[in-house]
Amino acid sequence: FFVIWEGRKLQNLGRELLIIMAARVFDSVLVTGSNRGIGLELIRQLVDSPSSPLQIFACCRDPDGPSAKELQTLADKHKDVITIVQLVTDSPESVVAAAKMVEVRLNGKGLNLVINNAGVNIPGSLLETGKQELVDVYTTNVVGPMLMAKHFHPLLCKSAAQFPDQSKMSCSRSAIVNVSTLLSSIKKCPENFSMSPMYPYRLSKAALNMLTRCLAEDFKKDAILVMALHPGWVQTEMGGPKAPLTTAQSVSGMITVITSLTEKHSGTLLDWEGKVIPW
Ligand code: NDP
Repeated sequence: FFVIWEGRKLQNLGRELLIIMAARVFDSVLVTGSNRGIGLELIRQLVDSPSSPLQIFACCRDPDGPSAKELQTLADKHKDVITIVQLVTDSPESVVAAAKMVEVRLNGKGLNLVINNAGVNIPGSLLETGKQELVDVYTTNVVGPMLMAKHFHPLLCKSAAQFPDQSKMSCSRSAIVNVSTLLSSIKKCPENFSMSPMYPYRLSKAALNMLTRCLAEDFKKDAILVMALHPGWVQTEMGGPKAPLTTAQSVSGMITVITSLTEKHSGTLLDWEGKVIPW
C-alpha cells in the first residue's frame, strides 16, 4: 500500500505523514564536497529531517570512488530524494556540466539553495608557504564558490522569481551559503593567529568573505540571499580529532541558522550558533 504525494511514493506512511505535516523549509538544495566531513553530515541531516527537501543534490569529485562509499549507501537508501552529482568546484567545465544536470533533474523548477562547502586547508607558517600553496588553496576556496555562483545563478533566479514580494529573502526562496571560518576574520586575527597561522587558508577565506559581500550586493536585485557561515571547529579530516564539535553538533546548528535566515542576514558572516562574526 502506498500513496503518491507531490510525485513521491510514500511507503512508510507513519514517517511520511510526519514529513507532510512538518513545513518543508526548502524544496531543493545542493551541497558541494558532500562525500565526507561536514558536507556528508549536511546530506545526512537534511534527508533525515521531518521536513526533508524534495531534492538534494549531493556533489563530490569522485562519486564512484572509495571516498564516496558512505554517500553512495545513503543515496541508495533515499533514491527519490538524493542525486549524486560529479563536481570539481574549481573546474569551469565541471561546474557547467553539473548545472545542466541539476537543471534537467529540476524539470523546469528553480534551485532554492546552494551550500558551497567544499574547501581545503594547507596549514602553513610564512616560511612553509610558497606560491603553489597560496594558489592551490585560493583556487578551491575562492575560485570554486565564484564559479558556482556564476553558473547556478540562473537556477537560483528561477526559484526566487516564483515569490511575489521582492523584498523578502530566505533559503526557502533562493540563497547561497558559503562555508567560511572564524580564521577569516581580520578583527579576530590577534586572538587566534599564534594558535593557527595558516596563511593560505586565512587569506583564501577572507577573500571568500569579500566574494560573499559582493554577491550579496549583486544578487540583491534578484532577491537571492548570500551569506557566509562558520561551522565551528569540527572533528573532520580538516578539523582533526582534537576539535570540540562533532559533525552532528555543528551541522545541526548550521541547519538551524540556515533555515532562519532573512534579508537582514544577506552579506553577513555568522557562526553555527547564529552569532555574528566581525569581518
Ligand atoms: P574535509 O577535509 O573533511 O572535506 C572537504 C570536502 O571538500 C571533501 O568532500 C573534498 O572532496 C571536498 N573538496 C575539496 N576540494 C574540492 C574541489 N576542488 N572540488 C570539489 N570538492 C572538493 O573538510 P570539512 O568537512 O572539515 O570542511 C568543510 C568546510 O568547512 C570547508 O570549507 C572548511 O574550510 C570549512 N571549515 C571547517 C572547519 C573544521 O574545523 N573542520 C572549521 C571552519 C571551516 P575529496 O574527498 O574529493 O577530497
